[in-house]
Amino acid sequence: MRDGVQAMAAWVQEAKGEDLGEGLIQIRESGIDPLEAAFAGGVRRFDKSGEYKADGALSVTDWLKWKCKLSGGAAAERVQIGRQLEELPQTEAAFAHGDLGYQHVALIAQTADHVGAAAVRKEEPRLLQAARSMDAGQFVGVAKNFEHRIDAQGALDEANRAHARRYLHLSEPQDGLVRIDGLLDAEGGATLRSALQPFMKPIKDDPRTYGQRQHDALMELCRQGGGQPGGAGGKRDSAGPRPQLIIRASLDTLAGIPGAPAGELDGGGTVPAATVQRYACDTAIIRMTGRGELEHELSHATRTIPPSTRRALEARDQHCVFEGCDRRRSWCDGHHLVWWIKGGPTTLPNLALLCRPHHRMVHEEGWTLERRDGRFKAIPPPRRVRPSSRST
Ligand SMILES: [Zn+2]
Ligand SMILES: [Zn+2]
Repeated sequence: MRDGVQAMAAWVQEAKGEDLGEGLIQIRESGIDPLEAAFAGGVRRFDKSGEYKADGALSVTDWLKWKCKLSGGAAAERVQIGRQLEELPQTEAAFAHGDLGYQHVALIAQTADHVGAAAVRKEEPRLLQAARSMDAGQFVGVAKNFEHRIDAQGALDEANRAHARRYLHLSEPQDGLVRIDGLLDAEGGATLRSALQPFMKPIKDDPRTYGQRQHDALMELCRQGGGQPGGAGGKRDSAGPRPQLIIRASLDTLAGIPGAPAGELDGGGTVPAATVQRYACDTAIIRMTGRGELEHELSHATRTIPPSTRRALEARDQHCVFEGCDRRRSWCDGHHLVWWIKGGPTTLPNLALLCRPHHRMVHEEGWTLERRDGRFKAIPPPRRVRPSSRST
């Protein structure tokens, strides 16, 4: 093997132009990917045999970290691929032939881990076809959509776990610079991206790098949206400045029908049905781009809160109606107690002001908001028992 690799390395060093490009493709298709397939199959057998214990390792993942110099995440991914591909022979064969890239296979294995290999096997030809024709980033959308159709609750749990990891950190200035780092949830990322977009246009003979333009766009956005939310600017509606977020969703997703696909964020990524429903709840902030029947349906639904109703709602509620929350009205969405798709009207008795975090708790985290004798009551979600492991 070493000889083969050395010969290839020597050849690549000499190759130019088209030949070099073809060589790089061959390294992946005929070398790295089939070897990764062989590696995953070997790891599976080594895992089952328990041989790794002979070296004193506690698990095959530990053994891989130690002996094969992999990070914990990289080791666990290979173990997962090995285990899941045993149940997915078509994927395993395509991987071994170099038809599928490593990252695509890792995604399929992760999907099988989430929803069970049996469910993936039923859909395997379609998934493989998508994997062959898409780059790994696009294929994430297909895999997540599939997971959502099989197990909407699991997809929602995953989105909630991801949401819990969100943070944004601004450092103290150092040498004239402030470091910003963080993790945005999928919806936050898409909101920020779409908000920056209008400010990203390069000027004539722009010397700025992409990163510098993105920085300047963020500053521009903050300046224009700054000050009083909903205040200066005049053009903003009373609900405050809200970058428009475009979500593509089917009617089934909107209605929360089991088996419905996830919502697709414009610019990449998916969100669970519950998030689509929250955005559709106060459509001042969203444009739903539907497919077929949905477009028709939406154009006939009276779902936007008319300005007069919004003003009356703000006058009645003043701030978020969640107990103990006083986030002001300009930060709030107009939540429908009985959602419009279920026949709830867009009229004052059926509406409530909810700030964004509380609105999220109602739609995504199972809280219920009720109105009794003119007072709002938020009821926590019933405790849900989830199976500790999802076997195939
Ligand atoms: Zn709502
Ligand atoms: Zn609130």
